[in-house]
Amino acid sequence: MKDYHKILEVSKTASLEEIKKAYKKLALKYHPDKNPNSEEKFKEINEAYEFLTKGNQTSKFHKEFRHETFYVIQHHLTLSFENIIHGFKKEIKLSFDKSCQECEGIGKIPDKANKCQFCKGTGKKYIPVNGFNFVTQCPSCSGTGSSRLNTCKACQGVGSFIVEDTFFADIPPGVSVPINAEFQSKNMKLRVICRISINNNSQYKIQDHNLVIKKKFNVFDFILGKTVSIETPYGKKEVVLDKNNINRIVIGNHGIPILQTPKKGDLIIECEHNVPEFNSEQLEKLKEFIK
Ligand SMILES: [Zn+2]
Ligand SMILES: [Zn+2]
Repeated sequence: MKDYHKILEVSKTASLEEIKKAYKKLALKYHPDKNPNSEEKFKEINEAYEFLTKGNQTSKFHKEFRHETFYVIQHHLTLSFENIIHGFKKEIKLSFDKSCQECEGIGKIPDKANKCQFCKGTGKKYIPVNGFNFVTQCPSCSGTGSSRLNTCKACQGVGSFIVEDTFFADIPPGVSVPINAEFQSKNMKLRVICRISINNNSQYKIQDHNLVIKKKFNVFDFILGKTVSIETPYGKKEVVLDKNNINRIVIGNHGIPILQTPKKGDLIIECEHNVPEFNSEQLEKLKEFIK
């Protein structure tokens, strides 16, 4: 799970403008033309930038230095309380637009007889950033220098195909805060970045690894040390009420699973007390007894 904000050295609440600014600064610093050892870092910065600036869509990253293309798909998943406690395992279908490689997603392919108007046939584009020139392919003709006048036969001019794939989301018990998890799709080996959010649809409050709930008890049951059956996320649990501890009942190892350990937090019951109604005869007896 990568922290893309950290990679771009911005805060989690950074605005789009701040992200763009940070990206330009870092892209300039780590551009492989300037610093041949920083290709990986440059790639990572680009990936973070794509992730943080593009919403729920397929992003295509062009690794210009090795001429490889790979895809990253974003998927959003909401975990219920049940999923937090027991984990989530499911094969999930993905359906997305994959841009046509033949025409680079434009729908038209270059016609060699016509020079590209944008780059005057050079196939290059210069982007000045802080006095340093990035040289990239002309996006209009994708470096061929020819005008795109012919309809692409592969995609019939649409520029993309609708593609389906699946991935197996396997989220262990204990994920109780929003995170990003990364999976690989089954057929196309896409990287699926799963944005996980939490919907605690239970009556429990989550406090770190502990679960907290309020419950009412008859105050006399504490005095008499009664055994009560308490509902927990892991089934019923018998508890002996303790007269020395009438405000809180702690059931250890019945809270949220702690990731990468066999342990769990606690289930904490905050007790509220019912005082039963007595008739006059009972009250008289009670008075006598307390004397
Ligand atoms: Zn095409
Ligand atoms: Zn061009």
